[in-house]
Amino acid sequence: MPTINNNFLKLKAGYLFPEIGRRVAEFIKANPDAAEKIIKLGIGDVTEPLPEACIVAMHKAVDEQSQHESFHGYGPEQGYPFLCEAIAEHDYLSRGCDISADEIFISDGSKCDCAGILDILGHDNTIAVTDPVYPVYVDTNVMIGNTGEADDAGRYGKLIYIPVTAENNFTPEIPATKVDVIYLCYPNNPTGSVASKETLTKWVAYAKQHGSLILYDAAYEAFIADPDIPHSIYEIEDAREVAIEFRSFSKNAGFTGTRCAFTVIPKGLSGTAADGSMVELHGLWGRRQSTKFNGVSYIIQRGAEAVYTEAGQQQTAGLVSFYMENARIIREGLTRAGMAVYGGTNAPYVWIKTPDNQTSWEFFDTLLNDTHIVGTPGSGFGASGEGYFRLSAFNSRENVEDAMQRIGSVLAV
Ligand SMILES: *Cc1c(COP(=O)(O)O)cnc(C)c1O
Repeated sequence: MPTINNNFLKLKAGYLFPEIGRRVAEFIKANPDAAEKIIKLGIGDVTEPLPEACIVAMHKAVDEQSQHESFHGYGPEQGYPFLCEAIAEHDYLSRGCDISADEIFISDGSKCDCAGILDILGHDNTIAVTDPVYPVYVDTNVMIGNTGEADDAGRYGKLIYIPVTAENNFTPEIPATKVDVIYLCYPNNPTGSVASKETLTKWVAYAKQHGSLILYDAAYEAFIADPDIPHSIYEIEDAREVAIEFRSFSKNAGFTGTRCAFTVIPKGLSGTAADGSMVELHGLWGRRQSTKFNGVSYIIQRGAEAVYTEAGQQQTAGLVSFYMENARIIREGLTRAGMAVYGGTNAPYVWIKTPDNQTSWEFFDTLLNDTHIVGTPGSGFGASGEGYFRLSAFNSRENVEDAMQRIGSVLAV
């Protein structure tokens, strides 16, 4: 028998969503009549179909694959220039960011890229995450051996956790000492908070001063409504020297089941080799991708390109505003019910302080039993998420309105 990667045995994960499933199944067993009334507001997945512009583009691309003259086999390793150029122009140049098409790497998901990026970094870095946090950042570091064991609160040894709670207005304090790598996610999953230009400027200055790398996850940038909030870390001066940015078509264009994303690695952004020399991360990532990844299908990249057409821009804006109207209904419903509500104005997630000092799981059970609504316990995203709860705006209007009606009539104080 081969030996296994023992780091996997350190993982606490696989706990949150299976435990939610277990509790819902138990509830249905005890209350079979309530089963069809259950509304799932815990989901981090989109519910609306793809924009028409993407569908049309993908149909056309399928037909191209049927003819010798227009057939595409393996594509360019970094992604097709037509897509990289559309991204550079619309997502970066138009916002004043100095990012060129050849600094963009097309992929099949930000989750994979967040995980894969650890391949090109050393294992001796000090790594910081916010708490609560998108679990992928933590678990991928556990799997690759960058952490120690988890303690009782679920915090892994060697990782630095920066609490984000109502007390600090969900703004992580900049570390007093040097960290080598810091994960930032804005708009934030799970708290729905955003980072101002001032906040990001401080992070970039910190990273420059300490030689840190910022891994910036902007999967939800399309949900930003406030014109003063940056959509990209590269809107901050000098961010090119310190940051990698992850973007995805999953949430803005509903590509969660279609799969297309991209990662920006500016040229000149470097890490230190064992001999003390500086090595560009762009080249390392290119080498890594060309060995471990064979690209996103031509058809899907044509679909993603269509997001940047006039029709595609209108249709994705329509999707975003549909979900953000859901978020508004959730925010208002919960506020009327007397709860402390955060997020949901520049992000599709609403983050609640649980009423009456219930733990996250106690509130999960209250909500399930009294209103048949399923949400996500904040403690599942990290120890500092205890006492909080996440509701998602990714749902039908009917479900969202029904859910808020129930909360209003049952839970209101
Ligand atoms: C949904 C999500 C992503 C996107 O992941 P994909 O693999 O591109 O679907 C990235 N980061 C966060 C925090 C997310 O919630």
